[in-house]
Amino acid sequence: MSDSNFLQCAADTHVLSKEQIIALLRDDKYEKELFSTADEVRRKFVGDEVHLRGLIEFSNICKNNCLYCGLRRDNLKIKRYRMSPEEIVGLASRAAHDYGFKTIVMQSGEDLWFTPERLKEIISEIKKFDVAITLSIGEKTFEEYATYKEAGADRYLIRIETTDKDLYHRLDPDMSWEARKQCLVNLGKLGYEVGSGIMVGLPGQTMESIADDLIFLKEMNIDMAGIGPFIPHPDTPLKNEKGRAFNLSLRTMAVMRLLLPDINIPATTAMETLHPDGRIIALQCGANVIMPNVTEGEYRQLYQLYPGKAALNETPLYSKTNFGMRIEAIGRKIGTGYGSRKK
Ligand code: SAM
Ligand code: SF4
Repeated sequence: MSDSNFLQCAADTHVLSKEQIIALLRDDKYEKELFSTADEVRRKFVGDEVHLRGLIEFSNICKNNCLYCGLRRDNLKIKRYRMSPEEIVGLASRAAHDYGFKTIVMQSGEDLWFTPERLKEIISEIKKFDVAITLSIGEKTFEEYATYKEAGADRYLIRIETTDKDLYHRLDPDMSWEARKQCLVNLGKLGYEVGSGIMVGLPGQTMESIADDLIFLKEMNIDMAGIGPFIPHPDTPLKNEKGRAFNLSLRTMAVMRLLLPDINIPATTAMETLHPDGRIIALQCGANVIMPNVTEGEYRQLYQLYPGKAALNETPLYSKTNFGMRIEAIGRKIGTGYGSRKK
């Protein structure tokens, strides 16, 4: 028996001990086998379809001050924008009708201008386009989440970022890890498909804590897991940190696929930022979703969570045709349905 037989066992049982996870993350000893096993598990459980989600970044205004993020409120260098409801609905209409996206992801900073009433209107307008709607707009009350759900939102993405509470509280001043976890619980109770995830390579983050993160996401049985490398932004307090852990992010994502075989896992834009083919590589290591940006014009340049964000010049049409070709080149095909998790 080779000492990596536990990987084949995990492909069948979807169980790994914390020590085994750490061994898989720590170095590249098992990397090749980990990636091919995650790819096999992906094929078996979610098939060869790659689901494209059209991402609209509708406001870069944020009341929070996360140390890692270029949108944090104390970053005075960034030019702020907020799309009007008509602009958001117009973009969603083009993404759905002209480019055929079956899911629209609405993401923003925590911008209080978007009250539940305003968001409700926007969501119900977009829902008319026969699309699934994913929101990624941060921490809200149970009642607010309920309002969006009633208006037609199907899914919600809110990364836990890290399960190391001390690290979380150092990086997210004035925020509470327990409150963030409660958001995930509330979203689940309301019947959302719930997405969460983490950043990899945060300052002070250990392999042990990434292993804890993966175990947490499995225990929460989340439906989507966004795992991306932390990339330092020059106008934030973390500007001198290293981050940029491309391979470790891939390994983390691949382990996630073994632990939760049937969930949706995006190949993140942050991965493409660190490697010109980052998203296609991720698709071969366990991922099955890509979120092309359908934000247009100047706005796209202004939504800089981190510098050098990939795909700044990708138009929605380019995304569809270019991804179509790249996806086919690796023997996969673009998904035609909504791409929900089949529980
Ligand atoms: N404001 C909402 C929230 O925080 O949940 C949604 C938008 S926020 C910009 C989306 C995600 O971007 C965060 O959850 C975080 O993981 C990621 N992010 C922020 N800054 C980043 C950085 N410097 N490098 C990589 N990812 C980053
Ligand atoms: Fe705001 Fe989200 Fe950035 Fe934190 S990560 S500053 S909540 S946009």
